[in-house]
Amino acid sequence: MDSDLEQLFTRAAAEGARHRGSVTDRPVHPYPDPGALAEAFGRPLDAGATAPAQVVDELVAAATPGLVGTVGPRYFGFVIGGSSPAATTADLLATGWDQCAYSEVLSPSAAAAERAAATWVRQLLGLPTTASVGFVTGAQAANTVGLAVGRQRVLADVGWDVARDGLFGAPHVAIVAGDERHATIDRAARLLGFGTASIVPVASGAQGAIDLDQLAVTLDAVAGRPVVVCLQAGNVNTGACDDLRAAIPLAREHGAWVHVDGAFGLWAAASPRTAHLVDGLDLADSWGVDAHKWLNVPYDCGLAICADAALHASTMSYAASYLTGSGASSDCILGDLTPESSRRARGFAVWAALRELGTDGVADLVDRSCALARRMAERLSAGGATIHNDVVLNQVLVSVGDPACTDAVIERVQRDGTCWVGGTTWHGLRLIRISISNATTTEADIDVSADAILRAAVAP
Ligand SMILES: *Cc1c(COP(=O)(O)O)cnc(C)c1O
Repeated sequence: MDSDLEQLFTRAAAEGARHRGSVTDRPVHPYPDPGALAEAFGRPLDAGATAPAQVVDELVAAATPGLVGTVGPRYFGFVIGGSSPAATTADLLATGWDQCAYSEVLSPSAAAAERAAATWVRQLLGLPTTASVGFVTGAQAANTVGLAVGRQRVLADVGWDVARDGLFGAPHVAIVAGDERHATIDRAARLLGFGTASIVPVASGAQGAIDLDQLAVTLDAVAGRPVVVCLQAGNVNTGACDDLRAAIPLAREHGAWVHVDGAFGLWAAASPRTAHLVDGLDLADSWGVDAHKWLNVPYDCGLAICADAALHASTMSYAASYLTGSGASSDCILGDLTPESSRRARGFAVWAALRELGTDGVADLVDRSCALARRMAERLSAGGATIHNDVVLNQVLVSVGDPACTDAVIERVQRDGTCWVGGTTWHGLRLIRISISNATTTEADIDVSADAILRAAVAP
C-alpha cells in the first residue's frame, strides 16, 4: 500500500471527523467573508504540478472558514438531514474504492450493495417487492425519472411512442399536481418537454395536502387526455401528506400514472406511529425519495422507484456496442434505472445506513424527529410564538411577533449561531421554517434553539 496515499486518506478522515466532532462548539453558520473565501481558492492555476499533501493542506485551509454545520444537531434549515457514522464511512470507502455502479460487470460489489439496499428500502416503505430502485442524485432526479416513465406509459396507452417520436405532435399530456407541489416537479416538466403549462394545478387544503374534491374536478376536466398525477408525501413547509389511499384510486379511475414525491415524507412509512400519514402509498406507479435527507445518508443520494420494473428499465436504458453483454443479471442492470450513465456507488452508504439502524432504528429516527418537532413547537408556543401548521411530521412553521418582522428575526437567529433556521412564505405570511431531520438532535438542542429563537424576537 502506498503509505503516502494512506496518510492522505487518514488525513481526510481525521479532518472530516474533526469537523463533525467540533460542530457544536462553533456557530452553526460561520458567515465567512466571501471575498476571503474566493481569494483562498482563487489563485491562478499553475502550469506545474503541486504535491498532493500540499493540495490537501491548501484545500483544508481554504475551505474550513466556510464550512456550515449542516451535519450538526442544530441545523434546522431546509430539510437537510445528517450523515450517520456508518453511512459516512461507507461513503468514504466508496470514494476510496472508486467503483462505477453502472453494472455488475463494472462493479459486482456496488451492484450487489444496491440490490440489497433496494430490498431493505422496499421492505421499510411497504413497496411492492418487485419494484425497481434506481440510485440517483436526489429527489429531483427521482421525480424526473418517475415522470419520464409515466410519460412513456400514458402516451403508449394512446398509441404514441414518445421514445421514438418525441413530444412534437403528441397528444397533450396533463400533469395534474397539487399547487403545493415541490418546485422540482416543475423543473422535471420543463426538462421532459411537457412545459410548465402542461401542469394543471389542484388546490390544497389548509395544511397543504391536495384537496380531494378539487382533484376529482380536475381529473374530470382533463378527461380524454393522457394524465400523470403527482402526489406528495411531506409538504416542504408543513410536512402534510396527501391522502394517498383516496387520491391514488381516483387518479387510477382516470387511467392516470401516479407518481408520489416523498423526498423526506415517504420515510413516515417506516414507523408504525406515522405510517398512517402515507397509507396507500404502495398503490402508486412511481415514487421519489431521498436518502440524503431524513435517512441521514451523506450527500448526494436519492431513489427513483417504479412498480413496473420492466417499463422503468426500458424507459431509462440505452444501448451501445461496447456495452453488449455487460449486464449480468436476469432482469436489468442498475444503470438502466437512472438518467446517469457512469455513476458513484451510492448503494454502499444506503446499505450501511440501514444496516446501522435496523428497522427499529429507522422507525425511531422518524419518531424522535417528530417528537422533537412537537417539542420545538410547544417550547416556542409557550414563549409566545404562533405555530402555523399542525405538526404531524418533522416540520414546524412559526412566527414570533409580527410576521412582517420574520426576516429580521431569522437573520438575528442565524447570526446568533446557536441554531440555523430559514424562512418561507406560507398563506401570504413570512414565517420561520424549522425542519428536524438530523439523527443527532437532542431535546437539549431543541430547548437551547427555541430559547435562541425567542431571544431573537426581542429586538436588541
Ligand atoms: C427536497 C425535496 C425535493 C428535491 O430533492 P433533492 O434531493 O434536493 O433533489 C423534492 N421534493 C420534496 C418534497 C423535497 O422536500
